[in-house]
Amino acid sequence: VIEIQHLSKSFGTHEVLKDIDFSVQKGEVVCVIGSSGSGKSTLLRCINLLEKPSGGKIIYNGENILDDRHDIHAYRTKLGMVFQQFNLFNNHNVLNNCVVGQVKVMKRRKEEAEKVAIKYLNVVGMDQYVNAKAQQLSGGQKQRVAIARALSMEPDVMLFDEPTSALDPEMVGEVLKVMKDLAKSGLTMLIVTHEMEFAKEVADRVVFMDKGVIVEEGPPEQIFNQPQKERTREFLKRTL
Ligand code: ATP
Ligand code: MG
Repeated sequence: VIEIQHLSKSFGTHEVLKDIDFSVQKGEVVCVIGSSGSGKSTLLRCINLLEKPSGGKIIYNGENILDDRHDIHAYRTKLGMVFQQFNLFNNHNVLNNCVVGQVKVMKRRKEEAEKVAIKYLNVVGMDQYVNAKAQQLSGGQKQRVAIARALSMEPDVMLFDEPTSALDPEMVGEVLKVMKDLAKSGLTMLIVTHEMEFAKEVADRVVFMDKGVIVEEGPPEQIFNQPQKERTREFLKRTL
């Protein structure tokens, strides 16, 4: 679905992403791992254009969306994003949180948007909470609503940036469970995570980043059991 070629990103003189080549195929689940500061979030933020890449190409549907003439608005509606901090409207109810974007961005009618929202709230197990205010929910519940909100836009790819790392430990499982189910359903997912067991279990491919480059990528069995690169081995020794 998305192919990245020679992507680079600098903040001032600090080169955070260096010549990244990488792609996500339809239906694929890709997990990105790597130490703090290696550029994982910046990579996701460049892909969804929250950051402007300094160089390179992002090919989507055969076109480089970094070309000036390209409609980046249309592109961005095709990407669902789930952040560490849920970014819900806290004083709105659950249903509304999942409806607003559909109405504003996709121009869906309210009734249709509600139907779609309820469908995806059901997928994440939050359909009992449609009338609850977001601020009344636990962290795990908020994150599940945030996932339903993103799914309601029916994106081509879902991007997750450490969706469980702001959660209390007892709530991590319920969010990972939802993500596992989504992975099984064939959704295309790009997930930055520190949850190695999760990555091992659900990823079709694992990408290890260090200091702004992709050091190694491959099926989870290779990355976790037979890493080819010394830097990958060292990272895994520290984290497992
Ligand atoms: P973590 O695991 O801690 O989330 P990460 O791999 O997501 O780390 P990034 O957040 O992508 O890392 O950051 C990579 C580097 O880019 C860091 O050195 C960070 O300080 C720097 N950086 C990120 N965003 C900015 C910014 N807006 N301005 C300046 N420097 C930035
Ligand atoms: Mg990050």
